[in-house]
Amino acid sequence: MNGTAVVTGASRGIGKEIARSLAEAGMTIAAVATSLEGAESAAASLPGTGHKGFACDISSSEQVDALAAATLEALGPAKVLVNNAGVTHDTLILRMKDEDWLRVLQVNLTGTFNMIRAYTRQMMKERYGRIINLSSIIAASGAAGQANYSAAKAGVEGLTRSTAKEFGSRGITCCAVAPGFIETDMTADLPEKMRTYVCETAPAGRLGTPADIAAVVKFLASEESSYITGQVITVDGGLTL
Ligand code: NAP
Repeated sequence: MNGTAVVTGASRGIGKEIARSLAEAGMTIAAVATSLEGAESAAASLPGTGHKGFACDISSSEQVDALAAATLEALGPAKVLVNNAGVTHDTLILRMKDEDWLRVLQVNLTGTFNMIRAYTRQMMKERYGRIINLSSIIAASGAAGQANYSAAKAGVEGLTRSTAKEFGSRGITCCAVAPGFIETDMTADLPEKMRTYVCETAPAGRLGTPADIAAVVKFLASEESSYITGQVITVDGGLTL
């Protein structure tokens, strides 16, 4: 694989492993995180050369437009965009403050839209692109305490299908990956009861790793995935069967 891949949330967890795996496959990575230190140290840790870190709060369309201009100038047009950055602010609906609701929607859903709008401009000129959005199994199942997160991720899946339809004729595909429970900072506080439930219920018998997700993203980011678009690929060890 060659060319530039923009990966949001590349400083930690799943995004860091996706960036590592695409870099190992030969791509040049624009590693995006909220802080420049985090982004630059992520870029410096990747195999190969030429990777670069960029700071951006994806919930701001101004920052995203500036990011797209900066990565274009530094690394050329993006062939691959991985919208991985995400946040949770879990609480029950009756206790959920406006800011808990809005922040999760703004980062997870509006942030993904901001990135797609900015980068499809570059991809259309090249008549080629691969967009991969990180959803969650919670988009389909819902979860008590995650009304904001499940609504945002369900929105990401609808956005994925619309993007696939709007840009298909330009050689741009758009898919979503819906992970189950993956060992990262986001799940570090998962109650022991839930951990046991996942291990006992999922046919795979364990939580997932960032590498389990990165392997699927790497395939969707490749030229070989050209006939798959608008799909949500569940990667959960069979938990939702
Ligand atoms: P994580 O370890 O909490 O890392 C989140 C990443 O997103 C960090 O790199 C963070 O950057 C970045 N980020 C947060 N807010 C941002 C913003 N406003 N602008 C730009 N970047 C921002 O998360 P993860 O567990 O790897 O999850 C990655 C994705 O997979 C998320 O979309 C998540 O919803 C999804 N997912 C995860 C699981 C799971 O079990 N872990 C399951 C299903 C879906 P900083 O380091 O700068 O804060």
